[in-house]
Amino acid sequence: MKQCYDAVVVGAGPAGSAVARDVASRGFSVLLLEEHSVIGQPLHCSGLVTPRTLTLANVGEQVVQNELRRAVIQSPLGEQLPIGGDRVYALAVDRVRLDQAMAGQAQESGAELILDARFLELEQANGLVRTWVERHGRRTRVMTKLLIGADGAQSRVAKQLGVHRSHRTVIGLAAEVRAKEAVRDQVTVLLDKDVAPGWFAWVIPLGDGRLRVGTGTANGLKPVDSFRRLRARLPQYFNGDPMLAMAGGRIPLWSPMRLYSDNVLLVGDAARQVKPTTGGGVYMGLVGAKHAASVAVEALQREDFSAAFLSRYQKAFMADAGDELKRGSDLRRLFAALSNAHLERLLARLRSERLAGLINNHGDIDFPSRLLYELLRAAPSLAAFVRAPLRFPRAWLRRRARQEEA
Ligand SMILES: Cc1cc2nc3c(=O)[nH]c(=O)nc-3n(C[C@H](O)[C@H](O)[C@H](O)COP(=O)(O)OP(=O)(O)OC[C@H]3O[C@@H](n4cnc5c(N)ncnc54)[C@H](O)[C@@H]3O)c2cc1C
Repeated sequence: MKQCYDAVVVGAGPAGSAVARDVASRGFSVLLLEEHSVIGQPLHCSGLVTPRTLTLANVGEQVVQNELRRAVIQSPLGEQLPIGGDRVYALAVDRVRLDQAMAGQAQESGAELILDARFLELEQANGLVRTWVERHGRRTRVMTKLLIGADGAQSRVAKQLGVHRSHRTVIGLAAEVRAKEAVRDQVTVLLDKDVAPGWFAWVIPLGDGRLRVGTGTANGLKPVDSFRRLRARLPQYFNGDPMLAMAGGRIPLWSPMRLYSDNVLLVGDAARQVKPTTGGGVYMGLVGAKHAASVAVEALQREDFSAAFLSRYQKAFMADAGDELKRGSDLRRLFAALSNAHLERLLARLRSERLAGLINNHGDIDFPSRLLYELLRAAPSLAAFVRAPLRFPRAWLRRRARQEEA
């Protein structure tokens, strides 16, 4: 480890490794710090991503465990809404291998990766950032022009900047189990407020007899209790053997916050770049990483690390993803307000052939608002479910219609 770097990136998750890779590949010196001794562990993900996520990550098929073409949305009373067909909607990936592949890319681009290195605190000093790092019980100081906090849901960097205002967080708990029932390529999503209050539960087949089963809670129910209820609710997926692997953690749903400060950028979960509808953070984190790296490179070229200049990152990210994140937040509020009885009625409506066809054609877990738009256009009566909790649905629908025409 040198004493000074152009950029120091805290956290070698997908977002941090992507920024480190893209800044280092432009010839700048980059230090990538990771507090754990093995990249990707401990695991806190169920590894469901879209094919476009891997394109953005620039990672190939070596991390893919299964291709998922179908899904079943299950209502609280057990009614099922089947969707999908031939198209690959999502992939089950090995998250540990994905993180390791991306950290490897960062190193190949010239970034220096240091494991077992925990970021402690930062101090602004004469236009640079003094970064304190703990390694094997010793505090070390590293100077940098730009500090990039990619240190996940409990970001220490964000806490030091004092920019985390929202506590909109879901706690997720997932396990790998041996399947009792053969399930090849169909994801199950259970909507049931008694099992997963404020969120949902999921079953993702890995295609080799294993399943990733998980649940989330947003209202204080303990994740272990939610998971116990899930086992009782979907016993067909649990064969009674011990769990193969557990993964859990906080999912910081997107809400507006400042993503920069003098000499500092935040990215990924540290910047709450997480889809509010599904909790998927790998794709949004990579979108954030792309914009963060581009502004970081420009800042390093111009030697301008002022908050005024770095605010370009927030503008670029919001121009790209802001609309989807805002609509996602609206959808999430709508979902949180629905009772089990509402959910039952809503799924019954969506089971009609015409609407199920729209779901198949427009369903995209990275852009759920596109489907919402199509559904509302085809069945305006669905707005009865939607209108109350959404803030500006009519204005939004008009804007979407104008975009369609353009
Ligand atoms: C149960 C569960 C299931 C999930 N399932 C999915 C899913 O199926 N699909 C999906 O897209 N998303 C999923 N997510 C969300 C996804 O895991 C995160 O959004 C994603 O990991 C964010 O990537 P990141 O690079 O921002 O942060 P992280 O992946 O959290 O990486 C942050 C890194 O920073 C390191 N770090 C933290 N603090 C420090 C420090 N002080 N010093 C040095 N290093 C530090 C950490 O060790 C870690 O390696 C799930 C989350 C949970 C909890």
